[in-house]
Order: sequence, then C-alpha cells, then structure tokens
Amino acid sequence: MIDFKAVEKKWQKNWQEARLFEAEVDQTKPKFFVTFPYPYMNGYSHIGHFYSAMRVEILARYKRMRGFNVLFPQAWHCTGSPILAAAQRIKEQEPKQLQIMKDMGFTEEETKKFSEPTHWIEFFPREWKKDFQEAGMSIDFRREFITTNINPYYDKFIQWQFRRLKELGYIIQGKFPVVWCPKDNTPLQDHSRIEGEGETTQEFTLLKFKTGPDYLVAATLRPETIFGQTNLWVNPDVTYVKAGVNNETWILSEAAALKLKEQERNINILTTLPGTSLLGKYAIAPFINKQLLILPSSFCDPDKGTGIVTSVPSDAPDDWIGLYDLQKDDSLAKKYTLDYKEILELKPVPIITSQDLGELPAEHVCKILGVRNQHDREKLEEAKHIVYKKGYYLGIMNNHCGKYANMPVERARDLIIQELTSQGHAETFYDLTGRVICRCLTAGTVKIVTDQWFIDYGNHHWKKQAHEALKRLTLYPEKVRQQFEHTIDWLKPWACTREEGTGTRLPWDAKWLIESLSDSTLYMAYYTISHWIKDVPLEDVNDNLFDYVFLSRGKKPTVPNIDAMRDEFEYWYPVDLRNSGKDLVQNHLTFYLFNHVALFPEKYWPRGISVNGWGTVNGQKMAKSLGNFLLLRDALKLGADPARITRMTGGEGLDDANWDYETIEAVTTRLNQFSSFVEEWYAFKGPEEQRTIDLWLEAQIHTLIKETTTAMEQTLFRTALQHGFFTFQNVLKHYLKRTKNNPHKKTLQKAIETQLSLLAPFAPHLCEELWNKLGKDTFISTEAWPTPEETKINQELNYTEEFITTAVEDITSVLNLSKIEQPEKITLFVSAPWKYTFIKTLKKNLEKTRNQTELIKTCIIPGHEKETASLASTLIKNPEKLPSVVLDEEMEERILRESLSYLKAAFETEITILKAEESTEKKASQAMPGKPAILIV
Ligand SMILES: [Zn+2]
Repeated sequence: MIDFKAVEKKWQKNWQEARLFEAEVDQTKPKFFVTFPYPYMNGYSHIGHFYSAMRVEILARYKRMRGFNVLFPQAWHCTGSPILAAAQRIKEQEPKQLQIMKDMGFTEEETKKFSEPTHWIEFFPREWKKDFQEAGMSIDFRREFITTNINPYYDKFIQWQFRRLKELGYIIQGKFPVVWCPKDNTPLQDHSRIEGEGETTQEFTLLKFKTGPDYLVAATLRPETIFGQTNLWVNPDVTYVKAGVNNETWILSEAAALKLKEQERNINILTTLPGTSLLGKYAIAPFINKQLLILPSSFCDPDKGTGIVTSVPSDAPDDWIGLYDLQKDDSLAKKYTLDYKEILELKPVPIITSQDLGELPAEHVCKILGVRNQHDREKLEEAKHIVYKKGYYLGIMNNHCGKYANMPVERARDLIIQELTSQGHAETFYDLTGRVICRCLTAGTVKIVTDQWFIDYGNHHWKKQAHEALKRLTLYPEKVRQQFEHTIDWLKPWACTREEGTGTRLPWDAKWLIESLSDSTLYMAYYTISHWIKDVPLEDVNDNLFDYVFLSRGKKPTVPNIDAMRDEFEYWYPVDLRNSGKDLVQNHLTFYLFNHVALFPEKYWPRGISVNGWGTVNGQKMAKSLGNFLLLRDALKLGADPARITRMTGGEGLDDANWDYETIEAVTTRLNQFSSFVEEWYAFKGPEEQRTIDLWLEAQIHTLIKETTTAMEQTLFRTALQHGFFTFQNVLKHYLKRTKNNPHKKTLQKAIETQLSLLAPFAPHLCEELWNKLGKDTFISTEAWPTPEETKINQELNYTEEFITTAVEDITSVLNLSKIEQPEKITLFVSAPWKYTFIKTLKKNLEKTRNQTELIKTCIIPGHEKETASLASTLIKNPEKLPSVVLDEEMEERILRESLSYLKAAFETEITILKAEESTEKKASQAMPGKPAILIV
C-alpha cells in the first residue's frame, strides 16, 4: 500500500528545493500564464474552491509538459464586506457565525480574535497557502500577495488603476439606482448576498390613474401598450394605502410606498384601504383618457411594482387569462357585486402587429401553450417571454395607437415614456428583478444614491470594445459566450465604493473605499512584478512606475528591478487562461474584460477564460446546514493524489462536479494497483520479437495519447482521466491476460512510461515516485508530454483484438449449443481468400447504393457466382453482420496462431487452425472474414 502522505511530503520538498515552479522569463520558450481568481479570506478553502483551482493546476502542469514556460501565481483577497461582516457578527455573538467558526474547528478563545478584521487577513492567507501546497499545486509562491492597504504596494497599484480609469472617463459620480442593504447602509453586491445573486434593478413606469381626488398608481414594464388598456386589477385580499406624494394622493401597496421613500420622494402614509373597496369603481387612464373598470385579481402581488396592475389583454398573457377567468362564470362578479354584463363586454384591443403571433398575441400564445387559468404560472411565464420577445423587438404599433401608429415598438416605448413623464402622467420607479437577501439577513431594496462613485460599465463605447475583446477570446466551453455577450449588454454603472470595510481608499475622495469586485479586475498584471516591487522603496512606488512598466509610458524611473519588472510584464502578459466557477461570468469575469480593454493595448487583452460548474458533495450543493461541508484540508487527509483525481472525475464542462467517498476509495485502490503493476512489470524480460498483440498495444497507447491530449486541450479533464488513466489501465490488464503474463519488454515499458506521463498532471506525487523507482533521475513534472504517432494508430490493429474476442465468444456459444462439456478438440477454419475480396467490395459499394440487384452484380466473384449472389443478398438485408474491419486470410491466421496458448488455456483443450480451402470438412466452407468456422468434437 502506498503511504500517500509520505510520498507527497517527499516530492513537495524536492520540487521546492529544485524551485521547479518558480517561473522565470525565458525568451527561448513560449509562455503560458494561468490564473485562479484570488479567493476571499473569510474562511478555509473548501473543496468547491479546490475544484476550480484544480482546473488551473491541471492545465498548468499539462502545459509545462507540453514545453511551455508556465506561470501559475496565487494571491489572497482581503478586500471588502465579507470579512468585515463576519467580524462584526462575531462581535455581536451572532449564533450562525459562531457556529460557522465552530465548524471550522475554532475554539471559543480563538473565535474571539476573529472579531478583529485584521486577524482574518493575517490568519487565512497562511492557511490557504498551506492547503494549496499540501495539495501539490504547482504555484510560484514568490509572487503571493494580499490586497487592501495592509499591503501598501498593492494599494498603490489599485490607486493607479483607478486614476487611469477616471482619466478615461470611466469613473463617474451620480444619481443611480442600486441594490441596497438598509441595515448595513451600503450597496448590496453579489458576493454580499446569501440569496439573489445576479438579481438587479429594473426600471418600471408608474402610471397615474385619476379616481376621484386621488390617483391609483400602477407600475408597468411596457408603457407603450397603454393604447390596449381595458381595465385595472387590484387584489381583493390586499390592504392598500393612501399616501401623500409631493402634492398628490396616491393609492398603492404599502411595500411600494416604502420603496418609493428610498427613491427621492417625500412619502407620507395617510390611511389604509382594503382592496375590495376599490372594486367596481372607475379610474381614468392617462393620455388615452379612457374610463377603466377596477376588477379583482389574485395575481397582483403587493411586493411587486405597486400591487396594482393595468390590464392589456391583447399583449399581456396574465391580463388575458385574468379576464378570461373572470368572464368564464359570474361567481366572482357576484361575490364582489360587480356588473357581470359590463365585464362580459370587455374585449382585448389589438395594438401591435408582431409577425406570426397575429393581432392578439397574448391570446394566441396562451392557446398554443394550453394555459388553463391564471394559476398556471409556469406556462404563463413562458407565454410572457414569447410575447415580449416578439412584440418588443419585432413589433410595429398599429392604427389604434394614434400618432405612434406604424412605429417600431422599441422606439415608440422611449417616446411614450418621455411624453407621459413630461406631462406628469407617469414617473420612473425601480424595483428588483427578484428577491435579494444580504449576508446580514436583511432583505435588499432599491435605493437611488447620489454621491456614490460608479465604474461606468454602461458606457456604449466601452461595451463595444468589451465585445471586441470577447470575440477574440477562447472560451471553455464555447457555449458560455452568449452569457458573456448578455452581461456586457446589460451591465449598468457599477457602484464601486463603500464607506466601510477593508481595501484601498479612492485616491481623490478618501471617504470611500474601493469595493472588492472593483479592485480585482486588473491585478493579474501585478503578479508579473509582485516579487520584484518589494525591493523598491515604498516612496518610489508611484503612478509613473506603473505607467512605465505596464503602459510603456513616461520616463524610466530609477528604482531597483525596473528592467526586470518591465521584462516580466512584457513576457508574461496577456493571461492565457483564467478559470473560475460559472457564477463569476455575470460580474468578475466580465469586469476583467472591461478593465483590460480600457487600460491595456489589444496585445494584452485576455486570451482565454474557462468556467466550471459547482462542486457538489454526495450529489448536493455544499452547505453547512446539510452537514456536507468539506474543507480541503480534510479531503487531503485521504491523500492529495486520490483527492485530486476524485475531484476531477466528479464532472466537467458546466455540469456540477460531485465528490463522494466511494469514489475516493475506488480511486485509492486503482492507484495502489497501478503502483504495484508498474513495480512488478516494468523490468520484465519477455519475447524478443513484437507479436500482433504487442502492435495492438502500441496502437492502443497512441490512440489513448491522442484522446487524452484532445480532452486536455479542451479542459475536459474528466474525459482525459477516463482515457489516460482508467481505460489505459484496462488495456494493460487485458494485454497481460492475452499474453499470458509474457509481455514484450520495450512495448510494455513504453506503455508504462506513457501512462505515468498522462497521469502526472493529476497525481504528480505518485508519478514522481514511480518515475524515480524506474531509475529516472529527472522530474516527470517537467518531462515531455507524449505525442501520438498517427502511423501507429491503425484501424486494422485496433480490430485484431475484437477479432479474437469475437472468436472466443463464438466458440463459447457453439459449446453451449452443442452441450459438449469437455471437448476433445476444437478446429478453427480461416475463411477462403476470395471471400475477403468479396466482403471488401460489398462494403465499399454499400456506401454508394442500396439497390440489391445492382449491388449483387458488382460483387460477383468469378468461379463463385452462386455463392456470392446468395451471400450478398443475405448481407445486404443484414449489413450489421458485416465485420467492421476486413483483414485478410494471412493476418487472421497469424493472429489465431499467436493466440493459441491463450485459446488453449481458455477452453482447456487442443486447438487447430486450418485454412478453409485446405480442408475437406463441410464446416470449413462456412468460414467468413472476421468469423472463422468452428468445429468441435
Ligand atoms: Zn446587510
């Protein structure tokens, strides 16, 4: 049994002493620069991080073996609210946070220290480094650093980045809606949420419907459809409020009134009123001046918009089905004493022509999808999506729309909003696209902030450039491109500062700290100089230095290492591949693109991004509450190599990658078997000459190299392991069995060395150990990756084993049929030569035609006319009976003869091989290519 821990320690020490992963500029070699986003230092690394980081690690090791000079650095992110929030919660003795600390193994005494944010920053980077080292990551740790002003060098780098962004006009201050935590009094961004990542603000138009002295207020996303309004919806089960808003009185839900308070309005709640009190009344639709009846609907959600909805049954599936439900029977009308006749008179008004959806798209799509009633939510959501997409992007306003007739919907919308607001009929209102919960457990809301600083990701020119950069980018997998495109399009100005937390102060407005998704977008460049800049006196680190190193701008500063810094940056940049979880596409990874295109010339724009799915444990997303939260250090106790392979066999692409204990057990067993195999067989001295089975093994090796390499290039590491480890081992096992433990020395040695190389990126410690045991004095980590030789990949050779396997199966079934328990003798007849010509011709012609008469004509063999005609007609009807590869008589005979000892042992009897044409046995004539005839006595 392998002592994994001992082997790991030994090789980690050897690598370190040889400085194997310290990346130096080498102009004679192509470079490859890979990064894993620096993780937040608000806890230990767990196996979710391990999954994303391992993808970088595997690629780094693979590229090194492919002859690249590889840079894999790692830093630690200490900026922002997560650390501060956690420290604060410990100070407040918040039970959930205390439990988290306990689960991480901290005593009460230790936990107390974490009430200071700086303690996190001192403690966790050390522990992460230890874990990553013990996992065998091939990181250049000389370049390690932390963020925030605790590291004044990095602090100056971020200040430089922000000053340059500001010069370009990309940092703006202004009035913007942001997702907000009312408790923390700070913008609530993705990483600070425990629910609602990716949710954002959405602009609604508030329409004001005069009713008596008051206004009924409804929020809509499609103000251009006002021409099709037929009625209003209120929820009879909801209590609404009357509120003084500036000089008017508005009727809306209480939740909406509270939201408006955060959006620069003076709100004064006056009274409450039940939804039922509004039913049956009228309100006047602004702009079109139409009396609208107020009707009941249960789908008006007081937490969405204002809880009051204006009804456009022509283009809103919810409204169409709501009206349909109400008209279906008179029970609701009776319940609320409404005039049923009047309800029956309400008809959708066609307003938009949108291609194939007809005049009344809502009705059309609801009918196609089979929406039954207003509670059929899933189908209604789909219907809304379809109608909106076609109506909004392709629709044309029709002649019911006054002066907007014949205008594209997209354009009419903006003009109508403008007109409505300028006349005081409408106002703008922001709401969330979905529920958001802060880490402090408070629900997020929308706030209009005024003195906040933003990075202007809404800038059109900048977006265009980001799209350009995206076009040049290689993505793994390619299908995430659309998500990037979408993110670039919808990104709005991003609140980039906070009043509290840890980080870098905004250089021109020191009240603010730069938040964590904004100080992490360009720092990959800092890796190229982080170990050099430490020798520069801090007072000499200034914008001029960064301009000179990164932008080739300005006077050369006279500071130590200045040439080294510039050389390193110019050599290593751009980043060749950055890998992270798929959740970072919508923020970090896209910001990374934006910032690179803003500050760097094209040649330094990112080259590749890969993303992966979640790391799950036992099929479930990791969560402390599920008791399946697994720290990396605990996983490593079972051995770094087994843990690495288990992590990478769990999944690939965008699928979740699962971790379970059965797999790591199985992997450990496999690694032990592999190790014994190598030690037992590497020096075995077998036959001198290569047999067909040895050539077959060679063909298999080269096929597996090719398949493994293809998968590695696509970052499909599970597939790579499948070919390069699991299948490879099965092939070797089969080979030993077939040669009756008499392998050909050189062929097997080549196989073992290849297998070690293919496995080295995944299980580097064990592979170094075995490589060393084979008497090699190099590191396998820097050996060349094997190259597949196309000439050795041969279809016929690959088929030879299928031929023998089929023969064994056929003999077994003949034995079963004949009920002979112990045969005296088995004779195998190899098919007559003309049949090979016949089958080859037939196979070839079958690709051209299926016409039976024609086919038979083309493959008749002179002298065997009758037989070929009858065989052809059978085989044309059952083409699956044709062998996948056609060898020849000589080759089949040779393979059988070489396999004699194997066959004899398998059937424990004497076996004779004969050519069909040399035998008078009637059976012999039944032999076919790929299927020797079998005679058993
Ligand atoms: Zn909060």
